[in-house]
Amino acid sequence: MNGWTTGNGPLHREMAERLDRRPWPARPLRAEVRVSFEFFPPATNVGQRKLHDVANRLETLEPEFVSVTYGAGGSTQDRTLVALRSLAPVVPDIAGHITCVGATEAEIHGVLDHYRAIGVRRLVALRGDDPGDGRPLVPPGGLADAAALVSAIRSRDDGASWDISVAGYPETHPRATSAHADIESLRRKVDAGADRVLTQFFFDNEAFLRFHERCRTTRISVPIVPGIMPVGDFEKVSRFAAACGAVIPKWMPELFGGLDAAPEVQRLIAATVAAEQCRHLAEHGMTQFHFYTMNAADLTEATCRILAVARTSGAASVVDDLGDELRDGSVA
Ligand code: FAD
Repeated sequence: MNGWTTGNGPLHREMAERLDRRPWPARPLRAEVRVSFEFFPPATNVGQRKLHDVANRLETLEPEFVSVTYGAGGSTQDRTLVALRSLAPVVPDIAGHITCVGATEAEIHGVLDHYRAIGVRRLVALRGDDPGDGRPLVPPGGLADAAALVSAIRSRDDGASWDISVAGYPETHPRATSAHADIESLRRKVDAGADRVLTQFFFDNEAFLRFHERCRTTRISVPIVPGIMPVGDFEKVSRFAAACGAVIPKWMPELFGGLDAAPEVQRLIAATVAAEQCRHLAEHGMTQFHFYTMNAADLTEATCRILAVARTSGAASVVDDLGDELRDGSVA
């Protein structure tokens, strides 16, 4: 029975096993949590305006920084610049993602110059995924991988002034030849001058903690910030997870299964699960979290509030948002 009991006797075996599979923490949170938020560049003007509102609202949580992703191979690169330009006045600390796949070093320096001109001082430096358009992944004058990208950034005249994050993979990058090779690749990025590691999202905290331990024994000493994906839509997140190699533990379909017709119930559960995941990690010394927001404020804000990240000014912003909606007639 795994030691589980109720006031009336032992727990039903199946329920005890279900509970055992979940990562609920045993103790209250006793750590100050810091957060950062990731957005993607919207495809439309309406999306841009929504992102502006979302960023404005999440700013009340005083994130360390927010970041905007970058489409490898040209797909959303202009949109990334548009999004960064529009967010820069609202968000004091903003990071632009930058990828090297398919680009020459000269083109990459061009992007960095644009970023600098709009006040971006932070980068998330990545190889980027194969855009699949048949063009060479490393063209003549290009950079082989993210470690080469970090070196190229640090070798610029302004190289020392950039704050650089790189990507890490608690469950190993799907294209890596082995977990060991993946950690070595991460070490090369850090040795090239990265300031921190932001991880791919994951749901198996034990896998993250093993990865964290392996990083430390490989002399990767910069902060390793867990990537947190609140599961607003289980099906969608399962698809993302399959694409990036994140494992969906057995407790997740048990928890979210059968709720396709009840998205609001999924979302209520999602904030609790994300907060419990963070609390469990905090018990193991992790106090910074990078949220994949999917350009929506509610789930991330709810999770952060459960983690006591929200400042009192947050309440005012929600009231202000509601006031705007009432003023423009979108709430009856
Ligand atoms: P590297 O550090 O160069 O490699 C990481 C690992 O992947 C190594 O083990 C390496 O051997 C293996 N690997 C990767 N590609 C290949 C390949 N082609 N051949 C052989 N091995 C390979 N992508 C975007 O396009 N835009 C973004 O804005 C973006 N933001 C991200 C943010 C975070 C926090 C994370 C975790 C990922 C992000 N990605 C983004 C995805 C990322 O570009 C891919 O995971 C990419 O495949 C690897 O990038 P990297 O910088 O980790 O590469």
